[in-house]
This record gives sequence, C-alpha cells and structure tokens, in this order.
Amino acid sequence: METKGFTISDIHRGLVEKEFSATEIVKGYLNKIESLDKKLGAFLEVFQEDALIQAKKVDDSIFRGDKIPVLAGIPAGVKDNILVKDKKCTAASKILENYLAPYDATVIEKLKGQGAVILGKTNMDEFAMGGSTENSAFKLTRNPYDFKRVPGGSSGGSAAAVASDECCFSLGSDTGGSIRQPASFCGVVGLKPTYGAVSRYGLIAFASSLDQIGPIAKTVEDAEIVFDVIEGKDPKDSTSVEFKSQIPNPKSQVKGLRIGIPKEYFGEGLDSGVRKVVEETIEKVEKEGAKIEEISLPQTKYAIPCYYIIATSEASANLARYEGIKYGRSNIKCQTSNLLDVYLKTREEGFGDEVKRRIMLGTYALSAGYYEAYYLRAQKVRTLIRKDFERAFQKVDFIFTPVSPTPAFKIGEKINDPLKMYLVDIFTVSVNLAGLPALSLPVGKVEVEKDKAGKNSASVGWLPVGLQIIGRPFRESEIFQIGKITEKLV
Ligand code: GLN
Repeated sequence: METKGFTISDIHRGLVEKEFSATEIVKGYLNKIESLDKKLGAFLEVFQEDALIQAKKVDDSIFRGDKIPVLAGIPAGVKDNILVKDKKCTAASKILENYLAPYDATVIEKLKGQGAVILGKTNMDEFAMGGSTENSAFKLTRNPYDFKRVPGGSSGGSAAAVASDECCFSLGSDTGGSIRQPASFCGVVGLKPTYGAVSRYGLIAFASSLDQIGPIAKTVEDAEIVFDVIEGKDPKDSTSVEFKSQIPNPKSQVKGLRIGIPKEYFGEGLDSGVRKVVEETIEKVEKEGAKIEEISLPQTKYAIPCYYIIATSEASANLARYEGIKYGRSNIKCQTSNLLDVYLKTREEGFGDEVKRRIMLGTYALSAGYYEAYYLRAQKVRTLIRKDFERAFQKVDFIFTPVSPTPAFKIGEKINDPLKMYLVDIFTVSVNLAGLPALSLPVGKVEVEKDKAGKNSASVGWLPVGLQIIGRPFRESEIFQIGKITEKLV
C-alpha cells in the first residue's frame, strides 16, 4: 500500500478501525525504502525481518481485541547513535563499524514497550559532529526536496526519512541543533527537549551537558505523541528529571501570549527569503492576538565560540574510550607490542577528519595553561547566555527565531571550510547551552533556482523554511500548543 503523508494518528486510526493491518503498513514503508533509499541515502541499515515480526505481533493483538497503544505498529527510524539491542550502532564512524549494541537505550525500551516498529538506523554526521550529514563515514544523505542539497545534520537521515515517507517518525539527537536544523531543511517538525527531559541512557555521547534525544515527525501533534512516550526520569541517567508534575496547563489560544523576537537573530547573514517567511509567520500569529515584542539576547555573538569550546572539550573526553580495546575496531593489524601504538593506529584509522579536529580542539582547550583561558571562560559565557534567556522569559512566554540562516545548502558547499559549517549553527546552539526546549516547525518555502539535474533529481524549485519556537524549561506542552496553532496558520 502507498504510505504517502501518513501521520501517527492516521495510522493508529486505520489500525483500530481495521482499514489496514500493521503488516500492510510496515510493508508499505519498507517498499518505499526499497525504491527510494538507494538515491536518498537516509538509512544505514534496515531491519526488514524484525519489523515484519513486530507488525505481526501488533496485528495479533488487534485481532484478539486488545486496546493498542498509540505507537503500536507505527514505523520509526532511529538515528545510528541510539542503541537498539543486538543491532549495529556505528554513530556513522568506522571506529564503531562492527559494534553491536548490548542493550536498548531507554528511549528504545519505551518505544518498544508501546509496540512501535523500528524499521532501521538512520545516517548522521560521524558522532553527530556536523550540520550536513556529509561527515558520515559511510554514505551521503540527500535532501528530499533537491538531491543536490544536504538534508542538514547531524540527524540528516532521520529528517530525510520522515520527509520522504520512508518512516512515519524518527528519533534524532540534538547537541547544538542536530534535530532542529535538519527538520527545517527537510520541511518536518523536530523537538529538542529541555536538558534532562529525556533519558540519554544508551545514546552515544558527544557532549554530555548538551546532548538530548528528541522526535522528528510530520506534525506537531506527532512530535508531542512521541515526546510523551520517551520523556521522564530514568534511574539510569542521573541528569534526567521527573517531568509530568512540572507541566502547567497550556493555554489553548494565542490571545494575550507574549512572543519575543530577538533582534540579534534577524541581523546580518540571514537569508532574505528565510527572513520573509519567518516574519510573515510572526505577523499571522500577531493577527491572532499574540503580543509581539522585540527583545535582546546580547550574548548571542559569543554563542558559536562558547559552544565550540564546550562541545569539543566534552567530546575529547567522551571519545577517549575508543581506542580499539575497550571500544572500537579491534581488527587493526598492528605489528607492534606497544599499547600506545595500538591506540594511535586505531584512532588514526577509525576517526574521520572532523572528529579528529574536534578532539584536538577540545584537548587543547582543556590542557594545562589554556584551561582557564578557554574552557573556564566558555563556562562563564555559558552562564551569561543562560541569563539572557532567563531575563527574556520574565517578559515573554515564547521566543520566535529562524532555525537556520539559510535554507538547505548544496552538497560540497561548506564541507571544506569548517568555520563556514560552524556558523550555520548560530541560531540553534544557544538553546543547548541554556538547556531550553525548542521546536523547529516548517512554516513556508523559498524559491530556488530549479535544479536541472534531470530525472535523478527530486527538485521542486523550492526549499522548506523552519521557525524555531523556544520556550521555558520543561514547558514542552506549551510549545506544542503554540506550535499546533502556528502550524494551522501557515
Ligand atoms: N552542527 C553542530 C555541531 O557540529 C551541532 C551538532 C549536533 O547537534 N549534534 O556540533
């Protein structure tokens, strides 16, 4: 069967009303992967057999007359840095090419507990370091709207798969924008939850004080459904917190809501097409009765350097474990009895250039004599960035910004210039530094020169643009509420 455009609720309703079976649905998505993914490159591995077994279980349960959970039988993609028991988990790195996950990540346990169908693992930048998925050691993922462009990153596979109906929803991880930016580039919804809202147990760590797992989906409602399943305190992640009790009742209308527009996010470097789409959306929300206020987040200019010092420092510590003995490829034939040589050779061959660059930057920032000048100072700036937001949220309920300064860029356009690539993160990293929740919502499109690549191209002559909705900590439910209203306006 054709699976075009199905949301979680569509599939759930169809299953409950016996319009189709879970097996039919799952086969539909598997066929889509089969026919499209050679070109799109969203998946690193597909679990065809397991997916069909799981679908059959759901069908049996429906046949018995059981009431099925909302995610039962819903086909999902999982970013390849999240552990699914007995499956490879590579983080798109050669160093973990043959690593088998010995257990399920907590989020996977929760999805499986609902009967969700995991179709496979999605492509990403190696160890989630990047913004285009071009840093994967294994393959390129293309933007479903234009195959010559990137899907964004690092959760590019997860976003491209949802956008092109290769799965109904997916999981990504966001350290500095890796859910929101690819969601924006691919025209889907992505949520970066509050730090601590979702367990990180079973997520391959990049920068532990910034990483969060979150949903990528077709609609705000779908993102909310998945978030409600995966959130909550987990004894296996001491940074996760009790959640439900902190959720206030969200207001069901826009009237009277105060929305802050930070002037620093609308300045130089913002693509004029993106600006127009975002500003038009803000006007529509204003017409509904929201109060729009210009605000200032003055530390924004330090966000990129601050993020790239903290993230690389934490990465250099987290990635120390991959040395070919405890973790990592151990098939390297080393003609040496010297342990250090084994470590060096493993890391030299196993890590890609961007990962090496980050380890070197982070090691430098943490080293004696430089620690105070870089790492410590970045931590202080991080506090100032957090205070910017605290101050803003005394005046406004939400902050609206673009997700990315440009729409999806061309494959190869920035990959050889790391600084250019880092600058793409300007509107997303502050949210991670401050630990806040933020939604990326598709709100319009910009025209681009029509791709003349011929029949191999999916070009439609336009690219999607995302709006970022930032909220107060643990107020995801309010973000979903305003997100759903905004979604209807555009
Ligand atoms: N693009 C950012 C980076 O390269 C963010 C990555 C992420 O969120 N995982 O670090």
